[in-house]
Amino acid sequence: MKILVSNCLLGKKCRYKGDDCKNEKVLAFIRGHEVFGVCPEQMGGLPTPRDPGERVGDKVLSNKGKDITAEYSLGAQKALSTAKENGVDLCVLKAKSPSCGCGVIYDGTFSGNLTSGDGVTTELLKANGFKVVTENDLPDNNI
Ligand code: SF4
Repeated sequence: MKILVSNCLLGKKCRYKGDDCKNEKVLAFIRGHEVFGVCPEQMGGLPTPRDPGERVGDKVLSNKGKDITAEYSLGAQKALSTAKENGVDLCVLKAKSPSCGCGVIYDGTFSGNLTSGDGVTTELLKANGFKVVTENDLPDNNI
């Protein structure tokens, strides 16, 4: 299987704080498969570390109120290109992220509260027919 994976889940220090969220369940799940790592926020030109962003209506704003919608959109387009060019079968992306979250994301108040919705990249991948799950959807039993 060909799998698109959020780089932070693979252990790349690409999160806004400059850390990773390496996930052993994801690493076990992808073993033996062809993996394509992406970080849409970095691919969209945002630095690391960076101010956190959240979806607010049809925009993405930083916690300081800066409009970073264009960077998120560019990163989503680049991740979609990676998925298309490589014909991936599945995308395993980071839960709750304004880029990579699937089904549930932070609610735009920077308070840690959640709301239903997809990250910008997930939304674009789904709209183009790709199956997206998060690390929370993977089975525990193959670690
Ligand atoms: Fe991880 Fe996605 Fe955020 Fe990059 S954009 S740090 S891959 S959740």
